[in-house]
Amino acid sequence: MIQNVGNHLRRGLASVFSSRTSRKSASRAGNDSAMADGEGYRNPTEVQMSQLVLPCHTNQRGELSVGQLLKWIDTTACLSAERHAGCPCVTASMDDIYFEHTISVGQVGIINGQGERGPVQAQGMECDLGSGHPQLPLLSALTLSVASLRVCKPSQGQCQLFDGPSLKKSLHGRWETNDTTLDLVEHGLPLGMFSPPRFPPSPHPWSDLESRDCSHMVPAEKTRVESVELVLPPHANHQGNTFGGQIMAWMENVATIAASRLCRAHPTLKAIEMFHFRGPSQVGDRLVLKAIVNNAFKHSMEVGVCVEAYRQQAETHRRHINSAFMTFVVLDADDQPQLLPWIRPQPGDGERRYREASARKKIRLDRKYIVSCKQTEVPLSVPWDPSNQVYLSYNNVSSLRMLVAKDNWVLSSEINQVRLYTLEDDKFLSFHMEMVVHVDAAQAFLLLSDLRRRPEWDKHYRSVELVQQVDEDDAIYHVTSPALGGHTKPQDFVILASRRKPCDNGDPYVIALRSVTLPTHRETPEYRRGETLCSGFCFWREGDQLTKVSYYNQATPGVLNYVTTNVAGLSSEFYTTFKACEQFLLDNRNDLAPSLQTL
Ligand code: ADP
Repeated sequence: MIQNVGNHLRRGLASVFSSRTSRKSASRAGNDSAMADGEGYRNPTEVQMSQLVLPCHTNQRGELSVGQLLKWIDTTACLSAERHAGCPCVTASMDDIYFEHTISVGQVGIINGQGERGPVQAQGMECDLGSGHPQLPLLSALTLSVASLRVCKPSQGQCQLFDGPSLKKSLHGRWETNDTTLDLVEHGLPLGMFSPPRFPPSPHPWSDLESRDCSHMVPAEKTRVESVELVLPPHANHQGNTFGGQIMAWMENVATIAASRLCRAHPTLKAIEMFHFRGPSQVGDRLVLKAIVNNAFKHSMEVGVCVEAYRQQAETHRRHINSAFMTFVVLDADDQPQLLPWIRPQPGDGERRYREASARKKIRLDRKYIVSCKQTEVPLSVPWDPSNQVYLSYNNVSSLRMLVAKDNWVLSSEINQVRLYTLEDDKFLSFHMEMVVHVDAAQAFLLLSDLRRRPEWDKHYRSVELVQQVDEDDAIYHVTSPALGGHTKPQDFVILASRRKPCDNGDPYVIALRSVTLPTHRETPEYRRGETLCSGFCFWREGDQLTKVSYYNQATPGVLNYVTTNVAGLSSEFYTTFKACEQFLLDNRNDLAPSLQTL
């Protein structure tokens, strides 16, 4: 389940409840919180915790430790759930958390929790000590940062607020993700292009041998950590149930140790995958926590942790309490993520977890951007209007130039000098491929600007029809592509292609592509209409007969699955397609297109 906490909190605070349950809980909560003088309306389930960060709350960097933050969040969510339900609650599950920002000793953290039906949502903010104004979010507001779903104990007989459809709905996302992960791993990827990892020498389809040293593969076994904790009264609520936040803090501790064994440095926790508690644990239980690095990507690693509980007298009877997957990075002095060593998983379970970690990485990206694409109000296609032609073409080219100029592109993988870069913006996941080709820049520009030739190298372009040659540099095409990712229908696109030669030395040649709508080419039942918001090519002259060619794409829902599959290293299809593009350019390098003379 994914929700935008920021929006939710804003909406929640601004609106007055109309549902019966909400009114009931408002009256149950009493008058203390429903309407505070001078504060306007407050959600009756809202609980706020303000904490001054002390040295005992921090990690080795002097920053608030994630374990401590999790405990505060859990307590806040628990108190909010209890206001709502009117009975004691325990943590059942938690959604994905992305850690955005951290705070140091002397700063104040504000944690807000509130719930309506089912999940409770919590949000952490850094707060200015002097003014008391919230400043930076500690957790990402993009996904539901924390939804600690709490269920009343059945013995209390008051589960109606949380059980039934609302509970199922809350947990649905988790089951769906688990199923998807298994499906990806067991039955191959939707595009049928999963290449199973080979060990050794190259455990990754994207074997970027140049930048990562394969001779230093760390056996996953070396990162294995085990720890035991005795649950004491301070770790539990008044009913003796261990606080979920305490268990999460212990899990974070062993995961951090496992992560540091791979990178031999202090790792930073960036995200925790959603998880749910499989069963309760009580005071007197021994909790055994085990962690190991499941997969190391270029700049991040996934550590898996599982928790089992036993009573002193029955050590052989262990109960599975919880499992979680945490993503760590290692930051340098400038807070930039450092390159991580390769990991060599153990045969059997280790290799399975390695593949499942790749699949989870893909799912994380999908979830993040499918949500944001839905939330964006930017129309993906613009109506084509001849009277507005100059503006539309200008906009097409300048959008691509702006995407190219962004300074937060990250090299995601590299194989045989073809590089895949990604850019994670607020709303979009963009990527670009880059290679250097032994072809003249103007020739490459001309060959690729005629979209009718693209089916010669790109199998995603099945047919291309020139609908309208608007002027010498702008044309509208109707493109059809084969059915993708489990869809039965093929896709079609109506694309405005605008090309521009460089104005100055050092400027690239540009071919910008974006979707337009045309009255003559409306969506038909035969095809699923696909859209591209901003994509295209840039060509930089690197020397005589030497050109750097880049293909850019701002991923829209239609291509997201394809992009994340490649970014997560589950496929190398990008690479194959781009290599085919290089071959096309080389095969036609002397093919003097008639339009070349006009340059
Ligand atoms: P799965 O094996 O399907 O990932 P589990 O719940 O068994 O699910 O384990 C969750 C994670 O905990 C694993 O991915 C792994 O990273 C870690 N883990 C499980 N068992 C051990 C173990 N014996 N030693 C170290 N880490 C373990």
